[in-house]
Parts: sequence; C-alpha cells; structure tokens
Amino acid sequence: MAVKPKYIFCTGGVVSSVGKGLTVAAIGRILKARGLKVAIQKLDPYLNVDPGTMSPYQHGEVFVTADGAETDLDLGHYERFTDENVSRLSNVTAGQVYLTVIEKERKGDYLGGTIQVVPHITNEIKRCIKLLGQQTSADVVLVEVGGTAGDIESLPFLEALRQLRTELKRRDTLSVHVTFLPHIGATDELKTKPTQHSVRELRGIGIQPNVIIARSDHPVTEDIMSKIALFCDVDEDAVIPLETVKNIYAVPLSIEETGLGDFILNHFRLDADPPDLSEWQEIISKRREVRDRLRIGIVGKYVELRDAYMSVKESIAHAAIRQNQDVEIRWIHSGELEKGKRLDELHGLDGIIVPSGFGYRGIEGKIKAARYARENKVPYLGLCLGMQVMCIEFARNVLQLEDANSSEFDMSTPHPVIDLMAEQRAITDMGGTMRLGEYPCILQPRSLAAQAYQADRIMERHRHRFEFNNHYRETFSASGLSFSGLSPDRVLVEIAELQDHPFMLGCQFHPEFLSRPNRPHPLFSAFIEASTEYRDEIGRISVESAWGKDQA
Ligand code: GLN
Repeated sequence: MAVKPKYIFCTGGVVSSVGKGLTVAAIGRILKARGLKVAIQKLDPYLNVDPGTMSPYQHGEVFVTADGAETDLDLGHYERFTDENVSRLSNVTAGQVYLTVIEKERKGDYLGGTIQVVPHITNEIKRCIKLLGQQTSADVVLVEVGGTAGDIESLPFLEALRQLRTELKRRDTLSVHVTFLPHIGATDELKTKPTQHSVRELRGIGIQPNVIIARSDHPVTEDIMSKIALFCDVDEDAVIPLETVKNIYAVPLSIEETGLGDFILNHFRLDADPPDLSEWQEIISKRREVRDRLRIGIVGKYVELRDAYMSVKESIAHAAIRQNQDVEIRWIHSGELEKGKRLDELHGLDGIIVPSGFGYRGIEGKIKAARYARENKVPYLGLCLGMQVMCIEFARNVLQLEDANSSEFDMSTPHPVIDLMAEQRAITDMGGTMRLGEYPCILQPRSLAAQAYQADRIMERHRHRFEFNNHYRETFSASGLSFSGLSPDRVLVEIAELQDHPFMLGCQFHPEFLSRPNRPHPLFSAFIEASTEYRDEIGRISVESAWGKDQA
C-alpha cells in the first residue's frame, strides 16, 4: 500500500510579493536535503485557465513544464530549488477548476444536482491536491495558495484546505502562514499588528496556522517573535523570522538555521536523514568569490518588470556562480533602441541576450541589438524570439533580403524567413495552442552547440507558434549562418549559429527553463564563458565608438 503523504499548506498574509513561492521552494529543498521526496503545487485563484494568455505586465514570466503546461513563475523556483521536474499537476487555477466542474455539469454528470462552490468546487480542488500526492508518491506535498488571506478569490481554496485538514489526520497536515512585518522608520520598530489581523482572517475561515513565517527587511528580535507567538497562538519555536537576503539561494540555509526543518519532521513524526545542504553551501560560498563584473545586457520590451525574465536572470546567475563571475545585468529597453535612442547602452556590454517575446512592439530594437552583436563580435544568445530576430537581421543585412521579417510581425513581407508552423495554421484559439513542452533535438557534431552540450541529442522545452522557414535554409547556410540543431526528422530548425563569430547562437526553445543553481545550463555556461573571454581578451567597445550613430 502506498504511504500517505503529509501535506504542508502555505498561505500568505498582509501583502503579496513577499517571496512566498521562494519560501515554499526553499522548504522543499530543506526537506529534500533530509532524503524526503517532495512535491510542490501552486493554487492560483484567478479565473484564467492558465497564465499563457496573460500579459507579462499582469503576471511576469510564464514558466513551461516538460509536459507542456504554461504555468506560474513560482514553478520555476520549485524546480530550481528542489532540482526536480514538476508537471502540469503542480499548477491549479480557479479557471481550470471551474472549467472542469462546468464541463461535467454540461455532460449531466451531476444528475440534476445544484452545482455550488461548496461542495463541487472545493471537491475538485481537493481532488487536484490529492492527485499530485498519488501521482508523485511524495512523502511531503507542499501546497501554496496564491494571493493573501482575505482575498475574495482565494476563499474556495482556503475552504478546501480547511476541509482537508479535518479529513486527513491532524498530524498529517501543517498550516504555514507567511506574513510581513512592516518597519516604521521614525521609531525604528517592526510591527506585528498586520500579522495578527491576517491570522484572525485565516481563523475566520477555520484555519489556525501551526507555523508563522515572518518576512522582514530588518532583523526580527526575540520579543517580536514572542509577541507573534502569543497573539497568534502558535508555539514560540513555530515563529520563523525570515529576513530579506540579497542572494535568493541563501534562503534554504536561512530557513534551516531557524530549525523549521526539524519542527516539520517532529510535527509529522517523520524519520529522516540529517540534512545534507553541502551542495547548497557550496553554491552560496562560491558566489562570494567575485572578480571583475561581467556586464550582460538583456534586451526586451518588459525590462521595467524584471519578473518577466525570471528564469533568464536566474540562468545567468547559475552559469556565473559556476564560473566565479559576478554579473551585472543591464536591462535594455527594445522600444527605446527601436526609436534609435540609447543605442550607446549596447556599448560596454560583454554579452547580449535577446529573450522570448510576442508581438511587433520593440522588434526593430531587438534586430538592432542583434546587428550590433554580429558586427562587433559581441557574444549573443537568442532565446526563442531571440533566435528569430537573429535570423531576420542576418536576412536583411547579410543576405540583403529587403524587408525580411517574421510573418508574425508583417503578414505581407516578401521574405518570411520566420513563418507560422504548418500545424498552427488552422488554430484560432489562443490558450494552450502553441508548440509546448519538451521535444528532442539532434545536434550537428563539432558545432558550437554540440561542444557546449557535449552531446548529440538533447531535450528542450518549447513555447512558440513560428519557426524558421525552410525555404531559406540553404541560402542562410551558404552565407555562414548554420543550423546546428534540428528536430529528429530534420524538418524543424531548433538552433542557429553564426560562423565566423566567437559566439552568436539562437535556439528556438527555452534553455532557461532547465538551468539549476547546481547544474547551470550548457548554453548559458558557454555564453558566459564567451562573454568572459570577450571582456578579458577583446575588450569592451568604448562608449565613444562610432557604432550606432548610423544605425539610429
Ligand atoms: N512570438 C514567437 C513565436 O510565437 C516567439 C515566441 C517566444 O519567444 N516564446 O514563435
């Protein structure tokens, strides 16, 4: 008989954006460090079926799982911290829950019953939670509820958790509430009142938290912790102070130090190995050995909202940690470059990344960045759209194919070097209809890509509708842009790389979803290596350089 998993339910209070997802991921890591198998799930109270159709301004990055689900960016933290692949079961939205229930109703599955939030919606939520435990045979399932206690949208989710706490044995569930302690500058005081109110809110729904994680930007003193314990009715050792740290990979170590790992084990009466966080310790200590800072530019249209490029940012950090480099990311607005402004921001960069994107706005700016990288031999890594942009630039400026473009941006371009995939032509629905998830790719021996991966076959995650147009394959290859990664049937171009350039490579997939702090992604490692070489051997182009003046 399968062992029943233990459940940790994690809610948030006071304000959003205090790093609840990171905290949950870090708890996952300290439990895994004890030899336990963990599974993590995010419950999102919004009514979209998934975030795939949402603007990055609303939602930040859309993380793609190996099985092709478009999910919340917290799943990226879960994978990076626990070093385990999650699946579509790890993100449940209110939209999915309602859709399932309403579809069943339309089929007549409820036999004339009145469909209600309680029990139909809450039952479906509970089914999704339990399913993850069954399918992963995890020892501990961590369930994070998006939003903060008191939100109207999260009520059905909290009610489902309340019911589960009663249905399962009390000792088999643990409720963790993550709050925030505001700091009053005038009196230099941390305030606990919002935490007390938020716990009261939770209690009103019937959930008494077992653990309170008090996030703070300032040191939390013993008397503040005692006060929280007293007013919120939790044990003193169950109040976990969690001060903001610069390096997110230090969070599991901070949490371990508070004793929360052992507290959880005692609560569940679980036997486990002593925690082994040595690999993690090494990541943290390595990061401190810094030399000259590497300047990497990320050219995108959402640069004012860095969450939109979360996995890219983290992948750069992972490769940099491995190579003892300290990286300064320079955020470059493609919209500004497009208008011919701030081109000098490209100068002084040791490497350029053009990440994923949709829609025409800012594209011409990204094309300028690709041109700058090609002409000045600055290392360039193109991720999905970044590969497409690199091909459009090459078509226009090397092959002299005037007005070459992607048919995504110009339906009537004379040279659609990037075009809609055949299987995408008849699709009209926007949600979940792209080429999504993991696909194999065959690497050309001795190419830059094959050298980076040290492999001839790889698996990578995709999220796109457009692809390189094979009609142009030979013309490109003959002029020095070769296709070093192809689908096994050789039909789809997955990697393009420029000959006669130290490192200019674009991939149609998203390597950023596979990078982990302890296992940096080979393409990011190769890119950071090339950028270091560029900085040390070739030297940055000075701001006084003339490049850019005639490009504006
Ligand atoms: N918009 C492009 C496409 O759909 C690129 C997508 C992406 O960068 N994820 O093909």
